[in-house]
Amino acid sequence: MTLKKLSTKLNRVVYNRLFRNQCYVCNISNEGTICKSCQTFLTFNTTHCQRCARPTQTSLTLCGECQTSQMHIDRIIAPILYEGLCRSLIRKAKFEQRPHFLYPLIELLALHIMKHNIELPSDWCIVPTSKASLKTRGFCQTNLMFKQLKYHLEPHQFTPIKFVPLHRTIQVSAQHTRSKQDRHKLNSRFFATDNTVPRHILLIDDVVTTGSTLNACAERLIKSGAERITAITLARTPA
Ligand SMILES: [Zn+2]
Ligand SMILES: [Zn+2]
Repeated sequence: MTLKKLSTKLNRVVYNRLFRNQCYVCNISNEGTICKSCQTFLTFNTTHCQRCARPTQTSLTLCGECQTSQMHIDRIIAPILYEGLCRSLIRKAKFEQRPHFLYPLIELLALHIMKHNIELPSDWCIVPTSKASLKTRGFCQTNLMFKQLKYHLEPHQFTPIKFVPLHRTIQVSAQHTRSKQDRHKLNSRFFATDNTVPRHILLIDDVVTTGSTLNACAERLIKSGAERITAITLARTPA
């Protein structure tokens, strides 16, 4: 065994001992990254709009906004509401440079896909993080989501997962610092693809608020040849 292989193996053993078999929230010994008890502090998005995942009284229809406005996304999958424990985990990961706090939410998202037999395309794309956020955060949360979701879901897919690159052409300030009105100004000109893209693409983002970032990315992908965009996020803001 080469030294490199040995160190990779050792790294994995240490990682598994330290993190894999315990709840990331309460540290209790647990199979998976979040225990049943800690999951009760999450609000699951059970009744929502069929397209944008906005919480509604019934899951049977589209919300008012989706009935009147045009979205470039077929469907947004967002199983947890961005409040309570979920909000706290995402904020710790993004603003306290502790990316491992996203692992429980990513695992729950993967479990949701498997439990509901949601068919996903095999071409995946991430909403690119701005250079400024990358610099302060030290990691790209959507790239981390891509890797972890691939780890959980690829063994259950028929075809291997491929990465579809998407770039920012114009650097704008982080979404959470922008007003709702400002967010609506985002459009496909803010993003670029390398080449012609596949027909059906899965678009990955961490939190969906107005859906404008996802929509602008989807518009760019459609202009580059995609016909259908399905989006997946860790969480949805409650209103
Ligand atoms: Zn726990
Ligand atoms: Zn909707």
